[in-house]
Amino acid sequence: MSQDFSYLLRECKKCGGTGYIWKPGKVTKDGIKAEDPIQCECLKKMVMYTRLSKGNVLREYYDLSIDDFKTSGDKAAVKERVKEIVSDIDSFRNKGKSILFYGTRGTGKTMLAIEILKAAASKGHSIWFDFFPLVFEEFTRKGYKADETKERYKEIFNNVDFLVLDELFKEREYFSRNERDAASAKIFLEIDILKKRGNNPTILITNLKNGLEDIKVNYGQYVASMMSQNFEFINVLGEDYRENGKP
Ligand SMILES: [Zn+2]
Repeated sequence: MSQDFSYLLRECKKCGGTGYIWKPGKVTKDGIKAEDPIQCECLKKMVMYTRLSKGNVLREYYDLSIDDFKTSGDKAAVKERVKEIVSDIDSFRNKGKSILFYGTRGTGKTMLAIEILKAAASKGHSIWFDFFPLVFEEFTRKGYKADETKERYKEIFNNVDFLVLDELFKEREYFSRNERDAASAKIFLEIDILKKRGNNPTILITNLKNGLEDIKVNYGQYVASMMSQNFEFINVLGEDYRENGKP
């Protein structure tokens, strides 16, 4: 369910809550003739907020932009690469590409992934953000209610244009402490995510430090070879991307 962001319009003094600004046009005999209205910033913001909310994107990322991503050393290259993807999101999709952002915690991987979702949403693509451990847990539950949730997720994984799943491998910490659970996480990633998604853009985020190598160790050779076909592996290094206390 998406939230209601119409207050953004109501509170706007620039357009008086109409969402449009009329530029005064040429003066005719009958008086002032108005030109085509232009969209007010508040309307653009409301449309974007609604799309992000429908896509389950965390609120604290709505107002950030790629420029808030602090760069030093190797991170400048990462930022440039994401900027490139964002500036031509349609061709990224048409090429059937996916991404694994990997590297230590607190380096801004989630933010980069969400910037890609925003670019996709602004072009009218459907988006979804979620946490891998949470969806995995939903899939392992039993019972009628659980089946309903599972169906809902299946629908999302099958149909959404751009999918981000954060915290891959955290399920090992949260829910799957034994071998059997580890095996079902592997199957879940392989069958329900990678196979279902095919060539639709899927962005996975993990704190695993060695990218594909760690994927192979923890999710098996088959998953690793599937991913090596259409995934781009982006190592996000560094300590902290936060600037001026922003999230
Ligand atoms: Zn306005």
